[in-house]
Amino acid sequence: QSQSSKELIEQTDKYGANNYHPLPIVISRAEGVWVEDPEGNRYMDMLSAYSAVNQGHRHPKIIQALKDQADRVTLTSRAFHNDQLGPWYERICKLANKEMALPMNTGAEAVETAIKSARRWAYDVKGVAENQAEIIACIGNFHGRTMAAVSLSSEAEYKRGFGPMLPGIKLIPYGDLEALKAAITPNTAAFLIEPIQGEAGIVIPREGFLKEAFELCKRQNVLFIADEIQAGLARSGKMFACEWENVEPDMYILGKALGGGVFPISCVVANKEILGVFNPGSHGSTFGGNPMACAVSIAALDVLVDENLAERSLELGSYFMGKLEEIHSSAIKEVRGRGLFIGVELNEPARKYCEALKEEGLLCKETHDTVIRFAPPLVITKEELDWAIERIQKVLGEI
Ligand code: PLP
Repeated sequence: QSQSSKELIEQTDKYGANNYHPLPIVISRAEGVWVEDPEGNRYMDMLSAYSAVNQGHRHPKIIQALKDQADRVTLTSRAFHNDQLGPWYERICKLANKEMALPMNTGAEAVETAIKSARRWAYDVKGVAENQAEIIACIGNFHGRTMAAVSLSSEAEYKRGFGPMLPGIKLIPYGDLEALKAAITPNTAAFLIEPIQGEAGIVIPREGFLKEAFELCKRQNVLFIADEIQAGLARSGKMFACEWENVEPDMYILGKALGGGVFPISCVVANKEILGVFNPGSHGSTFGGNPMACAVSIAALDVLVDENLAERSLELGSYFMGKLEEIHSSAIKEVRGRGLFIGVELNEPARKYCEALKEEGLLCKETHDTVIRFAPPLVITKEELDWAIERIQKVLGEI
């Protein structure tokens, strides 16, 4: 009695709030870089659930960890300890070279956690007067959909009808050091930045900016917080995108691939001086640090490291980007990216090209209207990339 794609889409449209505009495809199975609809049509996934599936769909080691853990214990809440949380803490701290972590579930919650930590650090450690702490973020940012995250946004549509917004936020142009200098005051708690802006259309800051901004923050006693939820965890060709400029931020915000596309988990990671500001009762989440998420996350991180997915992303990304650059098309304005985190900016809206690519068996999603994002699972092979290139060439070439 399985339903057709058409029926499933109608049902979704009828009962679901209309807060997304998906391509008209229903996925009912997936493995590696491939997904399948109920009718048995196969597609290559070039979005990876916005980089949550860096390890590939249903990676066997991650699925095994999920199954093993499901047979033992799934949820304890933090009222009690569980036997997966400690090992996960140590794993993520060692990977990020930091002293402490705090787990949540979704990216936006981790961003909330980062803002709360930064504000409390400003009051308790830096000595900012009560309720005066400021956060500086960047125009074009995407930090999620909670009230704090949309308060940070420069997109009118993300905020319309949701006011009042969180106070104490300043925005500067992405990559503008002078603007950052001018925005910092004695009340500044943190500078929050995506080392590569994902939702803005794979926007890379000018060379040297991350390093210079980090050094400025150090001189001014401002926390440098990197939202690596999308760009981090091997996506950009490095484990952390800040490595592109040898920056070790004061705090990483992680999510998405931290759970291998299998179970939601997010976190912030930082040193004791910062995360030490939390005490019992000051922050938490019923599901944060649950044993399912921790067990899955350990396996997800193992896969990233054991399968050298950062190096793979770097190598295959430069191959793929080279091939994209060879496509002659008057529709293409720019090809940019790092590793397998690539944006092709068009001279016109990208939606119809994404729809045409779908017809060719390739799933990707436009971002910011005119950009096609190519971000396949990092386990993709060179042969599979060649298969994709042929189709992209057919849809975009010679226009
Ligand atoms: N931060 C960045 C950089 C993101 O790309 C996203 C999601 O796209 C988020 C935060 C929000 O994550 P979530 O959708 O899990 O709340």
